[in-house]
Amino acid sequence: MLGQNRRSCDFLQAWTDLSLTPVRAPDSLIGMIRERTLQKRKKLVGTLPITGELLRGTLLERVVRHKSGCPKCARGEGHQVYVLTVSYGRGQTQQISVRRERVAEVRRWLDNYQKLKETIEQICELNHDLLRPDPAVPHPGRKRRD
Ligand SMILES: [Zn+2]
Repeated sequence: MLGQNRRSCDFLQAWTDLSLTPVRAPDSLIGMIRERTLQKRKKLVGTLPITGELLRGTLLERVVRHKSGCPKCARGEGHQVYVLTVSYGRGQTQQISVRRERVAEVRRWLDNYQKLKETIEQICELNHDLLRPDPAVPHPGRKRRD
């Protein structure tokens, strides 16, 4: 009777082991992919523009025309002005006028921001991959019971 029980327990254990064997890539391959992802992330972190020279927004070029008293505008030329438009969501925007001599600088700062943002997004995407469970680490909820 006891022997019978023992045998059925062995059978149950064998069946449990079998059902716990997941169908997936070998751990070494997953480890390799993880390693490659970490390398990619490290490389991206190295390219982050670490600078305070950052600006968010769009630089717009506009032509301002005076209604009267300006010979230039009377000739139809107008004045070229630059405006940095920054949106804060919900349709709220701020406009900052930019002097001509600072336009190149402003463009560079805007470019820094875009590069930083793109790189951060790429790092976040890689981190999504890294968040996937590591098969080398046993799942706390699926411990094998002996
Ligand atoms: Zn004018």
